[in-house]
Amino acid sequence: MTMFQLSYEEIVERIRSECNVSEAEIKRNIDEKLNHFGSLISRNGAAHIVAQEYGVKLIPATSGRLQIKNILAGMSNVEVVGKVRFVNPLREFVKDDRSGRVASLVIADETGSIRLVLWNDQAVKVERVRDGDILKVEGAYVRERNGQKEIHLGERGSLVINPPDEHIEGVAEFSRKRKIIKELAEADQDVEIMATVVQVFEPRFFEVCPSCGKRAKPKDEGFECDVHGAVSPAYSYLINILADDGSESIRTVFFRQLALKLLGIDEATLLKYREAPDGFEEQRKRLLGNTIKIAGRVKNNTMFNRLEFVATGIDIPDPDNEITRLETEISSLKGEKKETEENS
Ligand SMILES: [Zn+2]
Repeated sequence: MTMFQLSYEEIVERIRSECNVSEAEIKRNIDEKLNHFGSLISRNGAAHIVAQEYGVKLIPATSGRLQIKNILAGMSNVEVVGKVRFVNPLREFVKDDRSGRVASLVIADETGSIRLVLWNDQAVKVERVRDGDILKVEGAYVRERNGQKEIHLGERGSLVINPPDEHIEGVAEFSRKRKIIKELAEADQDVEIMATVVQVFEPRFFEVCPSCGKRAKPKDEGFECDVHGAVSPAYSYLINILADDGSESIRTVFFRQLALKLLGIDEATLLKYREAPDGFEEQRKRLLGNTIKIAGRVKNNTMFNRLEFVATGIDIPDPDNEITRLETEISSLKGEKKETEENS
């Protein structure tokens, strides 16, 4: 039998939400059980016994269609439907002679949000996924990393983007931990900062294989992919900025789609700066001084002995929306003024 990892606090919360009892009373009952059994059972074990006494089934389902709040580490063959909140770009990894591709995103439903990790062929699909899309995931398994649950989807699972018969109305507010830059530490793998762009470095471009997207290496006169041989390379890119929130500043890198989102331009426009870098000056000026919300992870750059931030999500107030909002406010103010004039 598979054991599911339900924490003490989760068990207490489950009992509290299903029975009409206070948290204090539940915890008192658990403490009594602990006293009764002495050192024979753990606090968690005592909580399980108390849940049984209240008639609360702690594991509602071990697989099948689940709400996000009911997903537990250790489950397999999970089906879930969620709305996309953040998309992290496709990455390649090499580990013990094995290489592959991985992408992750955050999905949410009415009950909560969770990270979804896609492997290999599933990961490639992330390039077609946009914020706000509905995803239907089947045949996934659940892991826990850094105390956070994650749904993983490999070859045996399935991923459907915007299935026609699935809708999600309101989604639970996604709460990523907000930190000030000064307090960032290497262990912060999924946090959010709110900072002002104080420096923008020129975009960096690198050659990739047009078939698989892997880095293409210079060979003779041209370029070569480990898998596809000699290729005429495509280009990938990144942008570094210095982000400052008043506590400190941190170098922050934006890869591919996130670089485009940061600048609010399309790929063709950015690629022009590869051969005409002077044109980028205009983008730099536009970006400097903007305050943005950046989700990401901290990376220790050992070469420079400094912490850097790798963006995994970005939230920029849309200037067009802001203008529309201001115009609406102004016209409603004018309307009010006119009314008061007419009434006097
Ligand atoms: Zn290739």
